[in-house]
Amino acid sequence: MENPIKSIVIVGGGTAGWITAGVIASTLKKSAGSNYSVTLVESPDIPNVGVGEGTWPTMRNTLNKMGIRETDFIEKCNVSFKQGAKFSQWVTGDKDDFYYHPLVLPQGFHNINLAAHWGEGGNNKSFSQAVCPQEEICELGLGPKKMVTAEYAAVANYAYHLDAGKFSEFLTNHCVEYLNVKHILDNVVSVNNKDGDISSVSTKHNGDVAGDLFIDCTGFKSLLLGEHFNVPFKSCKDQLFSDTAIAVQVPYQDDNSEIASHTISTAQSAGWIWDIGLFNRRGVGHVFSSQYISEEKAKQELVDYLKESCTNTDDLNFRTINFNPGHREKFWEKNCVAVGLSAGFLEPLEASALLLVEISAQMIAEQLPTHRRAMDIVAKRFNETFLYRWDRIIDFLKLHYMLNKRSDSQFWIDHRAPETVSDYLKEQLELWKYQVPSDHDFEHALEVFPAASYQYVLYGMGFKTNANPRGLSDTSYREAQNYFDKNEKQKQEFISTLMPNRELLKKIHRYGLQKV
Ligand SMILES: Cc1cc2nc3c(=O)[nH]c(=O)nc-3n(C[C@H](O)[C@H](O)[C@H](O)COP(=O)(O)OP(=O)(O)OC[C@H]3O[C@@H](n4cnc5c(N)ncnc54)[C@H](O)[C@@H]3O)c2cc1C
Repeated sequence: MENPIKSIVIVGGGTAGWITAGVIASTLKKSAGSNYSVTLVESPDIPNVGVGEGTWPTMRNTLNKMGIRETDFIEKCNVSFKQGAKFSQWVTGDKDDFYYHPLVLPQGFHNINLAAHWGEGGNNKSFSQAVCPQEEICELGLGPKKMVTAEYAAVANYAYHLDAGKFSEFLTNHCVEYLNVKHILDNVVSVNNKDGDISSVSTKHNGDVAGDLFIDCTGFKSLLLGEHFNVPFKSCKDQLFSDTAIAVQVPYQDDNSEIASHTISTAQSAGWIWDIGLFNRRGVGHVFSSQYISEEKAKQELVDYLKESCTNTDDLNFRTINFNPGHREKFWEKNCVAVGLSAGFLEPLEASALLLVEISAQMIAEQLPTHRRAMDIVAKRFNETFLYRWDRIIDFLKLHYMLNKRSDSQFWIDHRAPETVSDYLKEQLELWKYQVPSDHDFEHALEVFPAASYQYVLYGMGFKTNANPRGLSDTSYREAQNYFDKNEKQKQEFISTLMPNRELLKKIHRYGLQKV
């Protein structure tokens, strides 16, 4: 065959590089025999970004497909379980203002849309309390599974909180040892062309590394797609204002301190603080807009937040990361595709970055063109798919801001300005004034966040959908009541059988989970 695609070269060994290597190598191993090679070139001098601790439930499937044992991953990456996010002070800014975006779907989600019945049947509970048991599980700090639940299986849907540095090391070992990925520790110093394609990358000590497909995982540098191919960057700072993060690692008070079962996102005057409980420490950070607050003041807000739970903040090591929110105008150019920060980055509000890495790697692996002639078609489709996905993620993140009712700072006021909201999102919101979000509002295969996620955020933030003037049938009313009742029963059952997150993790470290 003319110009077959046999050799894949990934440049960059952060989480994007190693997840991509693992997904592609494990997929090809199963489907294409050994007639291919995956090589990863990683600089020994340029450090990984080192943050990125919140994930999405897709990670379970991603790791499982790579042949990783969940117990090993939990032990080696300081993992804890994540069952959603708690957004504190995002609506009014009051201390008791919060809502949850859990990972469990509303009861009976594929049979009935409970959002339409919540007002009448939810008995004054918050939307997430009325339709699923996970808010209570999180408030009580319980884990999402039992010791007898098999690896990757769940009692309540979950994702992970992980140590990003340890995760890259763990994936490196797995990919090299079990998936036959060739690892070159060297700096790429130049990119070489043939007929417009990249033919090879030159390294400082290991000569030229030739390939048929190059995957740019070089982080914010975007060495291949951005620097070599000059693909322009599209900023979305006019919609999402944050451009700086200050990250810090915080020790627990002691070995028995509670580990939160969810990401805690607490709004500040010009941004928000993430608080992620790992097995051995917390990862905390303040994401803010430098247009609205100085770095010094933002750090002070972070220190004030930490003082509520940590006695000594003087010894902590704070790290500032600047970023331009947005993405490349396209992600696949010629024989090069970018995955991870080299493709773009948005504030880590819903842990969408690693999710995008997973689904990008998956599409590359599954659609991998067999030869060069087919690549431009795959590239076009990849670009269309991911431009749509980035736009929808921007909309979904914006939703968390634009429904705020805060008047205490210009940041929150400006986030409500209609000119900062996309026409697409405006249209959805207009529709949702009259009917609750449903799967019909989303193009299934392409969606990153389902209708349920929109429901949790909308109704968590106090959005009102007018009652359907045609009324709801008695049958659907009764059916909804049954689901609300089922939810209450399930809550009690979970509360009485699930153990605290830390206790569960300690047991997993000691005994391991049952193999799938
Ligand atoms: C503040 C912050 C918080 C975040 N929180 C989350 C979160 O909660 N959840 C989430 O999903 N994501 C989060 N992210 C995003 C997440 O960290 C990244 O998506 C993820 O780590 C992937 O990074 P990467 O591999 O693309 O880049 P990097 O980690 O920067 O890796 C780049 C790699 O390229 C290599 N490289 C660069 N130049 C060369 C060269 N010339 N030659 C050879 N190698 C080279 C480097 O050595 C490195 O190995 C967060 C990001 C930030 C900034």
